Amino acid sequence: MDDYKVKIINIEYVTPDVKSLKFEKPEGFSFEPGQAADVSINQPDLINEKRPFTFTGLNESDYLEFTIKIYNDHNGVTKKIANLKPGDELIISPAWGSISYKGEGIFIAGGAGVTPFLAILRSLERRNEIRNNKLIFANKTEADIIRKDEFEKILGKNFINILSNEKLEKYSYGYITEDFLKSMSGDLNKMFYLCGPPPMMDAVEKQLKNLHVDENSIIKEAF
Ligand SMILES: Cc1cc2nc3c(=O)[nH]c(=O)nc-3n(C[C@H](O)[C@H](O)[C@H](O)COP(=O)(O)OP(=O)(O)OC[C@H]3O[C@@H](n4cnc5c(N)ncnc54)[C@H](O)[C@@H]3O)c2cc1C
Repeated sequence: MDDYKVKIINIEYVTPDVKSLKFEKPEGFSFEPGQAADVSINQPDLINEKRPFTFTGLNESDYLEFTIKIYNDHNGVTKKIANLKPGDELIISPAWGSISYKGEGIFIAGGAGVTPFLAILRSLERRNEIRNNKLIFANKTEADIIRKDEFEKILGKNFINILSNEKLEKYSYGYITEDFLKSMSGDLNKMFYLCGPPPMMDAVEKQLKNLHVDENSIIKEAF
């Protein structure tokens, strides 16, 4: 299928290094919550620089949304995305994708790895199907928590934060450990959804294995 040229409608920071982009939805375009697309900037020197990003809005909306972590420390595509303005164009592929909802469980995200879960949890909320799903969200500091207020509203006490670089009474401190996972997960006979940077994914997957979580109950994507 062909790629689509879409205009940016709005672009704004949602944390100090994460931007939300709202852009036109091509006619007939649809995606499943958790799916991504290959994306490039429609400028001659950047059009072939494709990077994957996850749709974070609702499929039912009349616009599309990405939530993108900007790497300002090197001259990659996300640094260029940070400078885009409404009216600038992206080229997006049809949706493809790896993570999808397979039933109630624990979502474990590191930083921008929360994007597929943002889409899935927004969609579950819209259908009144949030049930007992939990999100364990690992970040450096409170300011880095993407869509904090919205997750609090959607999940209430099932929104669990752990910060590695800031000690706050209301959140856990440090990195995710086996004991932490065990105490937060309760019964381990459920789905585990995992998305984040590769070192975090490796560590958490090992911990889940040690806790005898069935391999087939782990759905994952490295960012
Ligand atoms: C299926 C999928 C879906 C994704 N969805 C999202 C999403 O919704 N939101 C999101 O934010 N990300 C998402 N990602 C990750 C995203 O694709 C990458 O962050 C993005 O491609 C980075 O592009 P870049 O050109 O800025 O960096 P690249 O140049 O491609 O570099 C990528 C990584 O290498 C590091 N790096 C490379 N070179 C340097 C350097 N010289 N100095 C310092 N660091 C360096 C960067 O820190 C970065 O982690 C997704 C990834 C996958 C696989």
